[in-house]
Amino acid sequence: MKIALYPGSFDPITIGHLDIIERSAKIFDKVVIAILINPRKTPSFSAEKRKEMIERSVTHLQNVEVVVSSDLAIEVAKAHDAKILIRGIRAVADYEYELQQATTNMALDEEIETLFLVARPEYSFLSSSVAKELARYHCNLTKILPEAIIEEIEEKFR
Ligand code: ADP
Repeated sequence: MKIALYPGSFDPITIGHLDIIERSAKIFDKVVIAILINPRKTPSFSAEKRKEMIERSVTHLQNVEVVVSSDLAIEVAKAHDAKILIRGIRAVADYEYELQQATTNMALDEEIETLFLVARPEYSFLSSSVAKELARYHCNLTKILPEAIIEEIEEKFR
């Protein structure tokens, strides 16, 4: 069984993330989405809330699971038998950071590969921060966030 881990903050999940999840779920037998607790970041949503929002957004996908961890991505991958880490690349700006992460992970464990999926052009501007900023200004979020979480995000930033 080919298992991939998609690690990130997902604070909150956007349709850009969801697109990467849907595309990965077609490639792999199973995709484990890992909300990694990053001590350098102060999230807007608790890890449990982020998990719940992702779960509500992926009910149409049978081979996707969501976990929360404060471990390193490669440790989480190992714990779930995943040999592939999935990351999304939106623009050149992402590439430098992603390259550093991927080569660090390579040095830590050469069995684990990072696979980059290129963002669809229509989502390449999208990030969790952009989504929150638009929510603060009461913009229409239908092309930004998964349908299942829009109401909740609107409530939070009302
Ligand atoms: P992190 O804090 O690990 O960067 P994010 O939740 O911001 O976590 O992003 C997780 C992954 O998803 C990263 O690889 C990021 O580049 C990718 N990603 C974020 N937004 C998009 C998008 N709109 N389209 C494709 N990939 C994306």
